[in-house]
Amino acid sequence: MIAENIRQVRERIREACRMAGRDPGEVTLIAVTKTMPCEAVMEAYAAGERIFGENRVQEILEKQPKLPSDVRWHMIGHLQRNKVKDVIDRAEMIHSVDSLRLAQEIETQAQKADLIAKILLEVNVAGEASKFGLKAEEVASVCEELSCLPHIRVCGLMTVAPYTPIPEENREVFRKLKKLSVDIRLKNINNINMNVLSMGMTNDYEIAIQEGATMIRVGTGIFGERI
Ligand SMILES: *Cc1c(COP(=O)(O)O)cnc(C)c1O
Repeated sequence: MIAENIRQVRERIREACRMAGRDPGEVTLIAVTKTMPCEAVMEAYAAGERIFGENRVQEILEKQPKLPSDVRWHMIGHLQRNKVKDVIDRAEMIHSVDSLRLAQEIETQAQKADLIAKILLEVNVAGEASKFGLKAEEVASVCEELSCLPHIRVCGLMTVAPYTPIPEENREVFRKLKKLSVDIRLKNINNINMNVLSMGMTNDYEIAIQEGATMIRVGTGIFGERI
């Protein structure tokens, strides 16, 4: 079932790209494995997936030793500062950087681990009280602050759009994140790239692709409902 779901998601990605006049090679699928057992992850691996997303550090720590070494982990959920040291050399990218203090801790731990951490700034575009993320107005000044940190590379922006049964309602959210990334790129801030836009989940990834997503994070659409 998982292999068939992946086939369908990939097909829909291709179709969304075709409609938007984009190259499917521009869109990276992140298979979100939170709460799923390693057997399920291995099914996705056997179907060709290598990039997996988790929202808790603990789950990366538990699953990583049981899975092949070419699996790449993306940290997509809220990250506490005291957990950064555990994930710093295990995550290929941290999508969920939602404060300057968290970014500074990532800098500290990346320096200790002698690596450069790739990060995205999470933006609470819709301004939902229940969601993590920087306010859109804060992002440029945070980028200015981060541009002098040598062990961090800001690669772009991420958002978690509101849950809605009508995916079309999130188009505006995705458009705003894209526009914000364009505005920031135009500022030419040293060491700040805006190549990645991580937006779109099972419900709305096709809309997100139409609006410029370069990474989509799909859980339910691949692994089924979480229990
Ligand atoms: C769980 C999760 C997803 C995947 O959600 P689905 O609706 O199951 O595709 C994507 N992004 C984040 C940050 C998540 O926590």
